[in-house]
Amino acid sequence: MRGAERVERGRVCWDASDEPDDCGNETHGTPAEQWRDTSMERREFLQGTAATAMAAAPGARAMADAVKAEAMIGVQVGAVSFVDEGVEQTLDVLQQDGAVNTLFVATFTYGRGIAGRQVPGQPLPDHGKQQYDTGTFYGGSYTKVDPRYFRDTVFQSFRAPDLGDFDVLEAVLPAARKRGLKTVCWFEDVFRKDLPNIDQLQEKELGGSNAATLCFNNPNYRNWLLGMVEDWARTYDVDGIMWGSERQGAFSNMLGAHAGGPGQPMRVTCFCDYCQERARKQGINPERARQGFMELAKFVEASRQSQRPVDGYYVTLWRLMLKYPELLAWEMLWTESLRDTYAAIYAKVKEVKPALQVGWHIWHTNSFNPIYRAEQDLTAIAPWSDFLKIVIYNNCGGERMAEYIGNVGHTIYGDVPGDELLEFHYRVLNYREKELAEIPFTGLSSDYVYRESKRAHDGLAGAKTLLLPGIDIDIPTAQGHSKCTPQSVHDATLAAFRGGADGLILSRKYSEMRLANLKGAGDAIREWRQA
Ligand SMILES: [Zn+2]
Repeated sequence: MRGAERVERGRVCWDASDEPDDCGNETHGTPAEQWRDTSMERREFLQGTAATAMAAAPGARAMADAVKAEAMIGVQVGAVSFVDEGVEQTLDVLQQDGAVNTLFVATFTYGRGIAGRQVPGQPLPDHGKQQYDTGTFYGGSYTKVDPRYFRDTVFQSFRAPDLGDFDVLEAVLPAARKRGLKTVCWFEDVFRKDLPNIDQLQEKELGGSNAATLCFNNPNYRNWLLGMVEDWARTYDVDGIMWGSERQGAFSNMLGAHAGGPGQPMRVTCFCDYCQERARKQGINPERARQGFMELAKFVEASRQSQRPVDGYYVTLWRLMLKYPELLAWEMLWTESLRDTYAAIYAKVKEVKPALQVGWHIWHTNSFNPIYRAEQDLTAIAPWSDFLKIVIYNNCGGERMAEYIGNVGHTIYGDVPGDELLEFHYRVLNYREKELAEIPFTGLSSDYVYRESKRAHDGLAGAKTLLLPGIDIDIPTAQGHSKCTPQSVHDATLAAFRGGADGLILSRKYSEMRLANLKGAGDAIREWRQA
């Protein structure tokens, strides 16, 4: 599977891929110190703001109001919306209906999940150009590219051609500043296969082919990521940077432990030379790992054809894991490579401009797959995270949870009926929703949003990392499945705050949101500010 949320053949699905980037251990100390500096600045800033407010109206209420006034209330928006609807008009709507104070502008991606207009096959919203950009969407960088920052990578040609010379930051920043809005560059690791030199950054699949996804341990990709954030940090007066990777390691991928299509076992990644070298340095035998994955691939292929092993699916999988501990070692190798990528990006941005806020989009699979959730150790990534956008999309969450259950119900848990399997997941993930047949049509409730927010809040206890749950506003679902309403968005928004959110990010992109549902969030935000 590969990155971003996207819709294929009328169904929402994900692709995954994985990757690791290497940053070298030398970056690990610096970011932690930088983080402490930054969090100190933030705390002092908030205290200063609160002190000012208290001077005017003394009391705890004043301090709470000041903290709420400063809370980061963001919305994700792609470049095409500003072109289609005009910068001032778009900002009017986002401020008035959405009550936001921060723009998460999709400055780079090749994915339709966060850029472009509404995805084809989904109803067009009640604003923007009333036509799909099927023939014109291409993706890439929606800002000008300064080649000085890309000397250390062979990937140098990635300017999005869709909107001509339009530079979204150049167009939006002055107007945003004037309104007191903050702007964060938002990008994800979703690429196309038809880009110049991209083959030199791509991951290797188990079967030996190049993947569409890029390898974190490949210096060409790592240097490109660092060049990209340095370009934005130096060239533009932005307030922060958020990056996201919607992928996981080969073990979870092979088991299909995610929403969307189950994927093909032989296409999991990454087995490139850089990853093998990194594995050897950590005492992991790449050949043993490959053997283990080949065995696992046979297991998965047979499981999907309902060929039950003599000892059942779960026991047989455990037998493989015990025989090949490299399966889990390879999974963790991927996760560590992702964490190193976070650390490297964090260090680069702080080196350029310490005041910029740096954070990460944490994939929705965090709510479904306990293995992936285990890999999202918030205390481990907090030192390199000024904020975390934890995806807690409730409406599309029902459909996605059902897809996940369907996938793992044909591999690891092949012996467990779907409803029991879902019940087990509700138990271990600590939320409780409707039955399997219902959730695609009902979505998940605001209680799910509350519980997931609270869990992340508690998981960040003691860290200065801000929790910004991602709120679902009209994220595409299949025809006939549940759709957002103003009330459902309103309730989910308040539930996130009740769970301890420091702010939130309205998702995925303005060009797919209906205005009434955006206003549902805006109303809730205003209620929270006044409560
Ligand atoms: Zn690799």
